[in-house]
Amino acid sequence: MTAPGLLRALRAIPKAELHLHLEGSIAPETVVRLAARHGVAVSPEDVAARYRSTDFLGFLDSYKWVTSFLRLPDDYRLIAGELFRHLRKQNVVYAEVTLSAGVMLRRNQNLAENFFALREASKEAAAEGLRVQWIFDTARQFGPEAAVETANWAARLAPEGVVAFGVGGDELALSARELLPAFECARDAGLRLLAHAGEIGGPEIVREAVEVLGAERIGHGLGALHDPALLDLLAERGLPLEICPTSNLRTGALARQLGGEGARLDRHPLKAFFDRGLRVTLSTDDPAMFETDLVAEYGAAAEMGFSSAELARLAEMSFASAFLPEADRESYLASFHERAAALGLL
Ligand SMILES: [Zn+2]
Repeated sequence: MTAPGLLRALRAIPKAELHLHLEGSIAPETVVRLAARHGVAVSPEDVAARYRSTDFLGFLDSYKWVTSFLRLPDDYRLIAGELFRHLRKQNVVYAEVTLSAGVMLRRNQNLAENFFALREASKEAAAEGLRVQWIFDTARQFGPEAAVETANWAARLAPEGVVAFGVGGDELALSARELLPAFECARDAGLRLLAHAGEIGGPEIVREAVEVLGAERIGHGLGALHDPALLDLLAERGLPLEICPTSNLRTGALARQLGGEGARLDRHPLKAFFDRGLRVTLSTDDPAMFETDLVAEYGAAAEMGFSSAELARLAEMSFASAFLPEADRESYLASFHERAAALGLL
Protein backbone atom coordinates (compact mmCIF):
# COMPACT_ATOMS: atom_id res chain seq x y z
CA MET A 1 0.00 0.00 0.00
CA THR A 2 1.33 3.51 -0.83
CA ALA A 3 1.85 5.91 2.08
CA PRO A 4 -1.12 8.16 1.16
CA GLY A 5 -3.27 5.05 0.58
CA LEU A 6 -2.29 3.73 3.99
CA LEU A 7 -3.20 7.04 5.67
CA ARG A 8 -6.58 7.02 3.91
CA ALA A 9 -7.21 3.47 5.13
CA LEU A 10 -6.17 4.42 8.68
CA ARG A 11 -8.60 7.32 8.59
CA ALA A 12 -11.41 5.12 7.27
CA ILE A 13 -10.98 2.18 9.62
CA PRO A 14 -13.22 2.21 12.73
CA LYS A 15 -11.10 3.09 15.75
CA ALA A 16 -11.25 3.07 19.54
CA GLU A 17 -9.49 5.72 21.65
CA LEU A 18 -8.75 4.68 25.23
CA HIS A 19 -6.33 7.27 26.60
CA LEU A 20 -7.67 10.73 26.03
CA HIS A 21 -8.03 13.57 28.53
CA LEU A 22 -11.00 15.84 27.93
CA GLU A 23 -9.09 18.85 29.27
CA GLY A 24 -6.14 18.19 26.94
CA SER A 25 -8.39 18.25 23.89
CA ILE A 26 -9.38 21.93 23.90
CA ALA A 27 -8.51 23.74 20.66
CA PRO A 28 -6.54 26.98 21.21
CA GLU A 29 -9.38 29.17 19.89
CA THR A 30 -11.76 27.52 22.36
CA VAL A 31 -9.38 28.26 25.24
CA VAL A 32 -9.47 31.93 24.18
CA ARG A 33 -13.28 31.80 24.11
CA LEU A 34 -13.58 30.09 27.51
CA ALA A 35 -11.16 32.53 29.12
CA ALA A 36 -13.18 35.46 27.72
CA ARG A 37 -16.38 33.94 29.17
CA HIS A 38 -14.78 34.22 32.59
CA GLY A 39 -13.37 37.69 32.07
CA VAL A 40 -9.77 36.68 31.42
CA ALA A 41 -7.98 38.11 28.38
CA VAL A 42 -5.96 35.37 26.70
CA SER A 43 -4.51 35.56 23.18
CA PRO A 44 -3.95 32.66 20.77
CA GLU A 45 -0.22 33.30 21.26
CA ASP A 46 -0.59 32.78 25.02
CA VAL A 47 -2.25 29.42 24.39
CA ALA A 48 0.37 28.40 21.84
CA ALA A 49 3.15 29.22 24.31
CA ARG A 50 1.44 27.23 27.09
CA TYR A 51 0.82 24.26 24.79
CA ARG A 52 4.47 24.20 23.76
CA SER A 53 5.92 23.15 27.12
CA THR A 54 8.93 20.90 26.70
CA ASP A 55 9.27 19.19 30.06
CA PHE A 56 6.91 17.17 32.21
CA LEU A 57 6.34 19.62 35.06
CA GLY A 58 5.86 22.43 32.53
CA PHE A 59 3.23 20.27 30.85
CA LEU A 60 1.40 19.66 34.17
CA ASP A 61 1.46 23.41 34.77
CA SER A 62 -0.06 24.13 31.33
CA TYR A 63 -2.75 21.53 31.98
CA LYS A 64 -3.60 23.23 35.26
CA TRP A 65 -3.76 26.61 33.50
CA VAL A 66 -6.20 25.32 30.86
CA THR A 67 -8.49 23.78 33.49
CA SER A 68 -8.72 27.17 35.24
CA PHE A 69 -11.10 28.26 32.43
CA LEU A 70 -13.43 25.30 32.95
CA ARG A 71 -15.91 26.33 35.60
CA LEU A 72 -19.53 25.76 34.61
CA PRO A 73 -21.58 22.99 33.01
CA ASP A 74 -21.75 24.99 29.75
CA ASP A 75 -17.95 25.10 29.57
CA TYR A 76 -17.75 21.33 29.82
CA ARG A 77 -20.56 20.81 27.35
CA LEU A 78 -18.80 23.03 24.81
CA ILE A 79 -15.47 21.20 24.96
CA ALA A 80 -17.07 17.74 24.98
CA GLY A 81 -19.17 18.58 21.90
CA GLU A 82 -16.07 19.81 20.06
CA LEU A 83 -14.06 16.75 21.06
CA PHE A 84 -16.75 14.33 19.94
CA ARG A 85 -17.08 16.02 16.53
CA HIS A 86 -13.30 15.82 16.15
CA LEU A 87 -13.34 12.09 17.02
CA ARG A 88 -16.19 11.35 14.60
CA LYS A 89 -14.24 12.97 11.77
CA GLN A 90 -11.50 10.39 12.33
CA ASN A 91 -14.00 7.55 12.48
CA VAL A 92 -13.46 6.92 16.17
CA VAL A 93 -16.51 4.84 17.09
CA TYR A 94 -15.69 4.16 20.72
CA ALA A 95 -13.88 6.33 23.28
CA GLU A 96 -13.10 6.16 26.96
CA VAL A 97 -12.58 9.78 27.92
CA THR A 98 -10.76 10.73 31.09
CA LEU A 99 -12.20 13.56 33.13
CA SER A 100 -9.97 15.28 35.68
CA ALA A 101 -12.63 14.94 38.35
CA GLY A 102 -9.95 15.45 41.01
CA VAL A 103 -9.19 18.91 39.60
CA MET A 104 -12.89 19.80 39.66
CA LEU A 105 -13.20 18.78 43.32
CA ARG A 106 -10.04 20.69 44.20
CA ARG A 107 -11.59 23.80 42.65
CA ASN A 108 -14.78 23.22 44.69
CA GLN A 109 -16.92 22.88 41.59
CA ASN A 110 -20.24 21.12 41.33
CA LEU A 111 -18.97 17.84 39.89
CA ALA A 112 -22.41 16.29 39.43
CA GLU A 113 -23.77 19.26 37.46
CA ASN A 114 -20.68 19.46 35.27
CA PHE A 115 -20.79 15.73 34.67
CA PHE A 116 -24.47 15.77 33.71
CA ALA A 117 -23.63 18.33 31.01
CA LEU A 118 -20.93 15.96 29.73
CA ARG A 119 -23.31 13.03 29.82
CA GLU A 120 -25.75 15.00 27.64
CA ALA A 121 -22.97 15.63 25.12
CA SER A 122 -22.07 11.94 25.10
CA LYS A 123 -25.72 10.97 24.51
CA GLU A 124 -25.73 13.22 21.43
CA ALA A 125 -22.48 11.63 20.26
CA ALA A 126 -23.97 8.15 20.67
CA ALA A 127 -26.76 9.13 18.30
CA GLU A 128 -24.05 9.98 15.73
CA GLY A 129 -22.26 6.65 16.10
CA LEU A 130 -19.66 7.46 18.77
CA ARG A 131 -20.05 5.57 22.04
CA VAL A 132 -18.37 7.28 25.01
CA GLN A 133 -17.66 5.99 28.50
CA TRP A 134 -16.04 8.10 31.20
CA ILE A 135 -13.01 7.60 33.41
CA PHE A 136 -12.67 9.69 36.58
CA ASP A 137 -9.12 10.58 37.37
CA THR A 138 -7.24 12.19 40.23
CA ALA A 139 -3.68 13.49 40.28
CA ARG A 140 -1.21 11.77 42.60
CA GLN A 141 0.07 15.12 43.89
CA PHE A 142 -3.42 15.90 45.30
CA GLY A 143 -2.85 13.21 47.96
CA PRO A 144 -4.62 10.11 49.26
CA GLU A 145 -7.78 11.79 50.65
CA ALA A 146 -8.49 13.53 47.35
CA ALA A 147 -8.03 10.18 45.60
CA VAL A 148 -10.64 8.54 47.85
CA GLU A 149 -13.05 11.44 47.32
CA THR A 150 -12.67 11.13 43.52
CA ALA A 151 -13.15 7.35 43.68
CA ASN A 152 -16.33 7.86 45.72
CA TRP A 153 -17.68 10.25 43.10
CA ALA A 154 -16.83 7.79 40.33
CA ALA A 155 -18.74 5.10 42.24
CA ARG A 156 -21.74 7.40 42.73
CA LEU A 157 -21.87 8.30 39.04
CA ALA A 158 -21.11 4.80 37.71
CA PRO A 159 -24.76 4.25 36.68
CA GLU A 160 -24.50 7.45 34.59
CA GLY A 161 -21.63 6.24 32.39
CA VAL A 162 -18.47 6.30 34.53
CA VAL A 163 -16.73 3.02 33.85
CA ALA A 164 -13.34 3.38 35.53
CA PHE A 165 -11.21 5.17 38.10
CA GLY A 166 -7.63 6.16 37.42
CA VAL A 167 -4.73 8.20 38.63
CA GLY A 168 -2.40 10.52 36.73
CA GLY A 169 -0.28 13.60 37.37
CA ASP A 170 3.15 13.47 38.97
CA GLU A 171 3.71 9.77 39.47
CA LEU A 172 6.70 10.40 41.75
CA ALA A 173 4.50 12.35 44.21
CA LEU A 174 2.59 9.52 45.91
CA SER A 175 3.25 5.78 46.35
CA ALA A 176 0.89 2.99 45.35
CA ARG A 177 0.38 2.04 49.03
CA GLU A 178 -0.97 5.52 49.77
CA LEU A 179 -3.34 5.23 46.81
CA LEU A 180 -4.62 1.80 47.73
CA PRO A 181 -7.70 2.90 49.76
CA ALA A 182 -8.99 4.86 46.74
CA PHE A 183 -8.47 1.91 44.40
CA GLU A 184 -10.17 -0.45 46.85
CA CYS A 185 -13.15 1.84 47.06
CA ALA A 186 -13.40 1.98 43.24
CA ARG A 187 -13.00 -1.77 42.90
CA ASP A 188 -15.68 -2.44 45.52
CA ALA A 189 -18.06 -0.28 43.48
CA GLY A 190 -17.44 -2.43 40.39
CA LEU A 191 -15.35 0.16 38.57
CA ARG A 192 -12.44 -0.79 36.30
CA LEU A 193 -8.99 0.40 37.39
CA LEU A 194 -6.25 2.32 35.61
CA ALA A 195 -3.03 4.09 36.46
CA HIS A 196 -0.60 6.32 34.64
CA ALA A 197 2.71 4.68 35.52
CA GLY A 198 6.14 4.57 33.95
CA GLU A 199 5.52 7.76 32.01
CA ILE A 200 8.49 9.46 33.65
CA GLY A 201 8.90 6.91 36.46
CA GLY A 202 10.77 3.63 36.48
CA PRO A 203 9.62 0.01 36.21
CA GLU A 204 8.95 -0.27 39.95
CA ILE A 205 6.08 2.21 39.62
CA VAL A 206 4.55 0.16 36.79
CA ARG A 207 4.94 -3.04 38.80
CA GLU A 208 3.29 -1.47 41.87
CA ALA A 209 0.40 -0.19 39.76
CA VAL A 210 -0.23 -3.75 38.62
CA GLU A 211 0.55 -5.70 41.77
CA VAL A 212 -0.51 -3.28 44.52
CA LEU A 213 -3.31 -1.27 42.89
CA GLY A 214 -4.62 -3.96 40.55
CA ALA A 215 -4.52 -1.62 37.53
CA GLU A 216 -6.03 -3.34 34.50
CA ARG A 217 -4.37 -1.03 31.97
CA ILE A 218 -1.31 1.15 32.33
CA GLY A 219 -1.10 4.68 30.97
CA HIS A 220 2.22 4.88 29.08
CA GLY A 221 4.32 2.26 30.93
CA LEU A 222 7.52 3.35 29.15
CA GLY A 223 9.52 2.69 32.33
CA ALA A 224 8.93 -1.05 31.80
CA LEU A 225 11.57 -0.95 29.07
CA HIS A 226 14.25 -1.07 31.78
CA ASP A 227 13.00 -4.35 33.28
CA PRO A 228 12.76 -7.48 31.07
CA ALA A 229 11.10 -9.50 33.86
CA LEU A 230 8.34 -6.89 34.08
CA LEU A 231 7.90 -6.95 30.30
CA ASP A 232 7.47 -10.73 30.51
CA LEU A 233 4.88 -10.32 33.27
CA LEU A 234 2.92 -7.74 31.23
CA ALA A 235 3.03 -9.99 28.14
CA GLU A 236 1.98 -13.04 30.12
CA ARG A 237 -1.00 -11.26 31.66
CA GLY A 238 -1.93 -9.52 28.41
CA LEU A 239 -2.05 -6.30 30.41
CA PRO A 240 -2.34 -3.38 28.00
CA LEU A 241 0.02 -0.41 27.90
CA GLU A 242 -1.68 2.69 26.47
CA ILE A 243 1.03 4.23 24.32
CA CYS A 244 0.93 7.88 23.24
CA PRO A 245 4.04 8.50 21.10
CA THR A 246 3.64 12.22 20.34
CA SER A 247 2.79 12.94 23.97
CA ASN A 248 5.94 11.11 25.09
CA LEU A 249 8.03 13.34 22.83
CA ARG A 250 6.28 16.59 23.76
CA THR A 251 6.33 16.12 27.55
CA GLY A 252 9.95 15.01 27.53
CA ALA A 253 8.89 11.65 29.04
CA LEU A 254 10.68 9.62 26.37
CA ALA A 255 13.85 11.72 26.72
CA ARG A 256 13.80 11.07 30.48
CA GLN A 257 13.36 7.34 29.96
CA LEU A 258 16.23 7.30 27.47
CA GLY A 259 18.61 9.10 29.81
CA GLY A 260 18.11 12.63 28.56
CA GLU A 261 19.12 12.48 24.94
CA GLY A 262 18.09 11.39 21.49
CA ALA A 263 14.34 11.28 22.02
CA ARG A 264 13.02 10.70 18.53
CA LEU A 265 10.13 8.69 17.21
CA ASP A 266 12.46 5.96 15.95
CA ARG A 267 13.75 5.44 19.49
CA HIS A 268 10.27 4.97 20.95
CA PRO A 269 9.82 1.46 22.44
CA LEU A 270 6.32 0.91 20.98
CA LYS A 271 7.50 -1.41 18.18
CA ALA A 272 9.80 -3.34 20.51
CA PHE A 273 6.92 -3.82 22.99
CA PHE A 274 4.65 -4.99 20.17
CA ASP A 275 7.26 -7.39 18.76
CA ARG A 276 7.80 -8.84 22.24
CA GLY A 277 4.15 -9.80 22.42
CA LEU A 278 2.89 -7.10 24.79
CA ARG A 279 -0.60 -5.80 24.37
CA VAL A 280 -0.23 -2.15 23.37
CA THR A 281 -2.85 0.37 22.35
CA LEU A 282 -2.32 3.65 20.54
CA SER A 283 -3.67 6.96 21.83
CA THR A 284 -3.29 10.73 21.72
CA ASP A 285 -3.39 11.61 25.46
CA ASP A 286 -3.90 15.39 25.02
CA PRO A 287 -4.42 15.90 21.29
CA ALA A 288 -4.87 19.70 21.26
CA MET A 289 -1.93 20.33 23.55
CA PHE A 290 0.32 18.04 21.51
CA GLU A 291 -1.09 19.08 18.11
CA THR A 292 -1.94 15.54 17.11
CA ASP A 293 -4.89 13.27 16.42
CA LEU A 294 -5.41 9.51 16.41
CA VAL A 295 -4.85 9.11 12.66
CA ALA A 296 -1.53 10.96 13.03
CA GLU A 297 -0.50 8.56 15.84
CA TYR A 298 -1.14 5.60 13.52
CA GLY A 299 0.91 7.43 10.88
CA ALA A 300 3.69 7.75 13.47
CA ALA A 301 3.46 4.00 14.15
CA ALA A 302 3.84 3.39 10.41
CA GLU A 303 7.02 5.49 10.53
CA MET A 304 8.24 3.28 13.39
CA GLY A 305 8.12 0.29 11.06
CA PHE A 306 4.64 -1.18 11.61
CA SER A 307 3.36 -2.93 8.46
CA SER A 308 -0.24 -2.32 7.40
CA ALA A 309 -1.31 -5.67 8.91
CA GLU A 310 0.49 -4.76 12.14
CA LEU A 311 -1.24 -1.39 12.22
CA ALA A 312 -4.57 -3.17 11.90
CA ARG A 313 -3.55 -5.49 14.76
CA LEU A 314 -2.66 -2.41 16.83
CA ALA A 315 -6.05 -0.83 16.14
CA GLU A 316 -7.75 -4.11 16.99
CA MET A 317 -6.01 -4.19 20.39
CA SER A 318 -7.78 -0.99 21.44
CA PHE A 319 -11.17 -2.64 20.96
CA ALA A 320 -9.90 -5.80 22.65
CA SER A 321 -8.70 -3.75 25.67
CA ALA A 322 -11.83 -1.61 26.04
CA PHE A 323 -13.85 -1.67 29.26
CA LEU A 324 -16.92 -2.99 27.47
CA PRO A 325 -19.26 -5.90 28.13
CA GLU A 326 -17.99 -8.96 26.24
CA ALA A 327 -20.84 -9.03 23.70
CA ASP A 328 -20.34 -5.34 22.80
CA ARG A 329 -16.59 -5.83 22.39
CA GLU A 330 -17.15 -8.83 20.13
CA SER A 331 -19.56 -6.83 18.01
CA TYR A 332 -17.05 -3.96 17.60
CA LEU A 333 -14.31 -6.48 16.73
CA ALA A 334 -16.47 -8.18 14.12
CA SER A 335 -17.25 -4.95 12.28
CA PHE A 336 -13.62 -3.86 12.65
CA HIS A 337 -12.36 -7.06 10.96
CA GLU A 338 -14.84 -6.77 8.16
CA ARG A 339 -13.86 -3.14 7.44
CA ALA A 340 -10.11 -3.78 7.83
CA ALA A 341 -10.30 -6.60 5.29
CA ALA A 342 -12.32 -4.46 2.87
CA LEU A 343 -9.72 -1.68 3.16
CA GLY A 344 -6.90 -4.13 2.40
CA LEU A 345 -5.31 -3.76 5.85
CA LEU A 346 -5.63 -7.45 6.76
ZN1 LIG B 1 -2.61 10.67 30.19
